[in-house]
Amino acid sequence: MSLGIAVIGAGGRMGRMLIDVIQRDPGVHLAAAVDRGGGAAVGRDAGELAGAGACGVPVGDDSAAAIAAADAVIDFSLPEATAKVAGACADAGRPLVLGTTGLGDAEQEAVRRLAGHAPVMQAANYSTGVTLLTALVEQAARAIGAHSDVEILEAHHRNKVDAPSGTALRLGETVAGVLGRDLAQSAVYGREGHTGARDRETIGFETVRAGDIVGEHTVLFAGDGERVELTHKASSRTTFAAGAVRAAQWAAEQPPGLYDMRDMIGV
Ligand code: NAD
Repeated sequence: MSLGIAVIGAGGRMGRMLIDVIQRDPGVHLAAAVDRGGGAAVGRDAGELAGAGACGVPVGDDSAAAIAAADAVIDFSLPEATAKVAGACADAGRPLVLGTTGLGDAEQEAVRRLAGHAPVMQAANYSTGVTLLTALVEQAARAIGAHSDVEILEAHHRNKVDAPSGTALRLGETVAGVLGRDLAQSAVYGREGHTGARDRETIGFETVRAGDIVGEHTVLFAGDGERVELTHKASSRTTFAAGAVRAAQWAAEQPPGLYDMRDMIGV
């Protein structure tokens, strides 16, 4: 049976992508769409807003009613929406896939409370490929990290304003955690001039910014006579939306609890 999903933050970049992915997935349908009251998205047909063709679901501003009308909820909006959304999910017993980042303690506490009543998926990156890469990097670090030079290479489009990427830093934290190192002490960001020989305890980061590259990450473990490179390449941002929709389908089958993407892909 098709799962009815409510999208919170429907007018945003991720919200519109989610609606597009949901429209094209026969396993799910858009049950409701919500954005901030008074916002430009409210009142518009959600499918048209997403550029996916009219779907007959208008964007509303009442998250509690939308959540009650759905089988599962995906929220990529702003932290100020989180407590209300989590409370409505708890009242209605609905699974929540939460993509919103930058939560404060109060919002995170609301998410933890909800997890006592319903399944909650919370991840900073909904790409299943990046989730798998992180698990493989952890495994590689455990097996050969202590005897390898570890370098993390990432490439993104010309408009990205921060470096290294959050995902590159998380990969570095994964390696540092396994090897018992403090990333703040071990990280070396780019090299220039007379650097001296490489210190094995360091974790190097290299950044490329060019064109329209969506996102590429490689973690390289180099020893004497061989090296292992683990690479993920994203070719479209829809990967995050597709991962979140898959997460909603998976969460709907789980008992109450707080889950992350590694639980879903079983690594
Ligand atoms: P955006 O600014 O384009 O969209 C946010 C939308 O939420 C807007 O339409 C806004 O009007 C709406 N909104 C604000 N307050 C609301 C409320 N109280 N109720 C309902 N809707 C409300 O942002 P975006 O790029 O789509 O990102 C949204 C969130 O998702 C951010 O926190 C971002 O960091 C996060 N994000 C997570 C991932 C991931 O994989 N986990 C990927 C991309 C973005």
